[in-house]
Amino acid sequence: MCGIVAYIGQRDAYPVVLKGLKRLEYRGYDSAGVAILNHGLHVYKKKGKVAQLEDFLTGKNMQSHIAIGHTRWATHGEPCDRNSHPHVSGDGKLAMIHNGIIENYALLKQELLNKGHQFESDTDTEVLIHFIEEIRNSNQCAVEEALRIALKRVVGAYVIVIVDEDNPDTLIAARKGSPLVIGVGKGEHFLASDASPIVEYTKEVVYVNDYEIAIVKADELILKNITNERQTPYIQKLDIELTAIEKGGFDHFMLKEIFEQPQTIFDSLRGRLDAKNGQLTLGGIREYTDVLANARRVIIVACGTSWHAGLVAEYMIEELCRVPVEVEYASEFRYRNPVVGPGDVIIAVSQSGETADTLVAMESAKAQGAIILGVCNVVGSSIARLSHAGVYTHAGPEIGVASTKAFTAQLAVLCLIGLKVAIEKGSISQQRFQHLLDELQDIPEKVGLALKLNEQIKQVAQKYKDARDFLYLGRGYNFPVALEGALKLKEISYIHAEGYPAAEMKHGPIALVDEQLPVVFVATRDSFYEKIVSNIQEIKARKGKVIAIVTEGDQIIPAMADDVIQVPEADELVSPIISVIPLQLLAYHIGVSKGYDVDKPRNLAKSVTVE
Ligand code: GLU
Repeated sequence: MCGIVAYIGQRDAYPVVLKGLKRLEYRGYDSAGVAILNHGLHVYKKKGKVAQLEDFLTGKNMQSHIAIGHTRWATHGEPCDRNSHPHVSGDGKLAMIHNGIIENYALLKQELLNKGHQFESDTDTEVLIHFIEEIRNSNQCAVEEALRIALKRVVGAYVIVIVDEDNPDTLIAARKGSPLVIGVGKGEHFLASDASPIVEYTKEVVYVNDYEIAIVKADELILKNITNERQTPYIQKLDIELTAIEKGGFDHFMLKEIFEQPQTIFDSLRGRLDAKNGQLTLGGIREYTDVLANARRVIIVACGTSWHAGLVAEYMIEELCRVPVEVEYASEFRYRNPVVGPGDVIIAVSQSGETADTLVAMESAKAQGAIILGVCNVVGSSIARLSHAGVYTHAGPEIGVASTKAFTAQLAVLCLIGLKVAIEKGSISQQRFQHLLDELQDIPEKVGLALKLNEQIKQVAQKYKDARDFLYLGRGYNFPVALEGALKLKEISYIHAEGYPAAEMKHGPIALVDEQLPVVFVATRDSFYEKIVSNIQEIKARKGKVIAIVTEGDQIIPAMADDVIQVPEADELVSPIISVIPLQLLAYHIGVSKGYDVDKPRNLAKSVTVE
């Protein structure tokens, strides 16, 4: 969600920032803008894609050694040139980019209006830069000091970067709640929302912490906390390569990431699973397996696709560990005053590790005494840092907005957690434990086989791409898979799709069924197989079109379904990792055949850093 890039150093700053904005496009946005210093402050911004901004700036003198750039995902005020960032102070000397929301902006705006400030946009961001200006003027202090004072009154989440016409050798940045990475080069610094704009220039980065202010010059990086004490920047090495954030011959990042799954699942198991010797090592939660085994309750908090991974984990952990598990939408959990406290273990699941809803849910549960474990993909992310312990999914950077490889890696890791706790607790037999280790070990290969269905699924996609609605049904472990399949389709093809537990269909959604409605059944061979066969019959009896995901060799369902996709057999506990693959491909091909930009679906953001 929203991208921030800034540069200061010897290079020409504008091309660096422009390229960085393109690298951040995947996060989702609606307008873009830049500011440079070149005999004064120049701000350019445009609704639409970065390419439109680039066209608009072609031929202009953009030379500068300092620049800030932004892709906006509107929260306050419609997407339009006027509301785009950067926003400037009343005297036109300060320009600011902002990611996040200033929750008390209305109050601050009223105070500023009373003092005679005038605003050009509807944004909370413009209020903040005027507020900083007001403090600077009334206290006769430096911008850095004014920022510090301002932030003490600001409620909300933000990353901001300010450029000051009167201080052309310095960028000032601050963060609370949203991510900010600073790349440290030789005589230059790069600031960005994530590492993707930085990785081609330097591997040395500093992750700014909440409530820290960074004063960034070409050859100096000063970090201070909100009470003005110097902090030592902790320089970390980036572990991603440029190739990981490029398309590598695929038409879309989404397809590349779907096809990466045999490798990414392998990576999420690597060093942890040793099926041959019956061993499972999870260093990240070593000290917490007991806590999990004896938890009063495990509560999984997540949003979107990660919430679906949480639902699968509910089935896994309850079955394996015999601990009660609840799965909560982070946003609802946080604000309904839940009963939570010591004895509860929260597992926060998030690809980016920056999901604002999940972060606030974790914070409140932590304050009430719960133990917090994180399962996220981005190393060093806010969720990783807020957790007592956790396990990274190691799926590599996920650029496609619709999550694919992060989901299967989450399933693999959550399964490892369940298995580790279960074997230590003694809640599963050694034999079942070994069987599931063997099953997990085989998953990357089976996912590879499922990917061979790509051409067949493309044909199925052609057949159904013009449907107005879809229904996705599954039972047991495959129920969350049905939800995930429906979500993928909605996200990238804009076709209305609903996921339901197959048995629940007759309590309502069956009213939708007619000869126009494609119904996708996730019906691999498991404990519910006979039951789901009956559900398929119920749809066929009403002339619905059935697309069935079944286990290879199934003789029964192919006789009744309109289209059949056969996936390799697996134990039902790990089968979601395989059965979701055709659903990802189906959504992808339908989205592409309708001519949509599947990597950047409308209105969606990759890492949702606002509540
Ligand atoms: N709240 C700000 C706005 O609406 C920033 C949104 C963003 O994170 O892009 O302009």
